[in-house]
Amino acid sequence: MNLESFVLYDRVHQCVTLSGVASKKGRGITTEDLGVIENAAMVVDSNTARIVWIGKSDQIPQQYQQIPNRFDCDGEVWIPELIECHTHLIFAGDRSHDFAMRASGKTYSEIAAQGGGILTTLSHTREASFEELLENAKLEIDRFQKWGVGTLEIKSGYGLSLESELKILKCIQVLQTQVPVQLIPTFMPAHAVPPEYKNRSDDYVSLICSEWIPEVAQAKLAQYFDVFIEDGFFSVSQAEKLCLVAQDHDLQIKIHADQFKSLGGTSLAVRLNAQSVDHLDQISPQDIEALSKSNTVAVLCPGASLFTGTPYAPARKLIDSGARVALTTDFNPGTCPSRNLPLMTTLACAQMKMTIPEAIAGITYNAAAALGLENEIGSLEVGKQFRVCQLKADSYESLPYCFGELD
Ligand SMILES: [Zn+2]
Repeated sequence: MNLESFVLYDRVHQCVTLSGVASKKGRGITTEDLGVIENAAMVVDSNTARIVWIGKSDQIPQQYQQIPNRFDCDGEVWIPELIECHTHLIFAGDRSHDFAMRASGKTYSEIAAQGGGILTTLSHTREASFEELLENAKLEIDRFQKWGVGTLEIKSGYGLSLESELKILKCIQVLQTQVPVQLIPTFMPAHAVPPEYKNRSDDYVSLICSEWIPEVAQAKLAQYFDVFIEDGFFSVSQAEKLCLVAQDHDLQIKIHADQFKSLGGTSLAVRLNAQSVDHLDQISPQDIEALSKSNTVAVLCPGASLFTGTPYAPARKLIDSGARVALTTDFNPGTCPSRNLPLMTTLACAQMKMTIPEAIAGITYNAAAALGLENEIGSLEVGKQFRVCQLKADSYESLPYCFGELD
């Protein structure tokens, strides 16, 4: 056996493999399912960057004991590299003054009347050059990487004209070749109704269906299509029309549903076999039932609830019903300007009564499932990609405990 391309990582203080989480496909997670190995070792093939063997340090098979490239990882806790499955990362401008106005008691419409809100981000993003968006996005991706994130989904949706939406998607395409983080592009022209289509949202939906989706799909600029179902944004029937056209063009589906009101968006996501349905703060009991029986991943956004002072999603009910639950920052300039994905595990445990194993799975295996990548990443098992987040801690339990401040 030629051992030249192999690397042996030895004496890892604690290795959280999530092997049980993977075999249960992210449902009904217990502490045992984390598959924690104390004093672990791992063999990686550097040619393929995949895991060849994993086990205890004192049980390394004979054939791997002579590997010349070896590292001592004493004192390190390993978990799979973190996966951020829902961001609106490409935009221009700053919305800190919106928060100041909200903190002084202004309502959403008062803030919009004084030049705040999503339309401000829209006009700044439309005006921004490709290079400005690119440079800003690099800074943000770098910040996510510092929190242990190795895979990041990015949605368009702050352009809302074909020209500016293409600018955002092409920006993601270029970034994929320039940053060390794996990026997953999502086309989200139905993020809001642009001002040119005020009171004519059906016309806007028709335009997206007839011209925008075919163009984006043909240029292979996105893997996913996403839509925001909410009063004042898009209805369930508009979303269905959009998603069916997107599916016809081989785009997979994600849906923003039940954030402020339960309108039936989750039922639609289940019916369409969407990869994920996101937010769910106001999901109905019937929709919890339907979602739990489906393969669609429930993606929860506790940072947005923290920031806007709105209710948290019923994580406990979803998990106890058998749903697959992932966690995200929902990073965006309006409702969650945080890149701190580990902090979401603290919120999940403290505010949504999730267990630590459920929260860890929420930013690893189940987040991978929300992107259809769970056979490649999200757990540390033989054959999977070698993507590891190294923590300087005594235990993985420090991750939510440290309030998002663990190095
Ligand atoms: Zn979102």
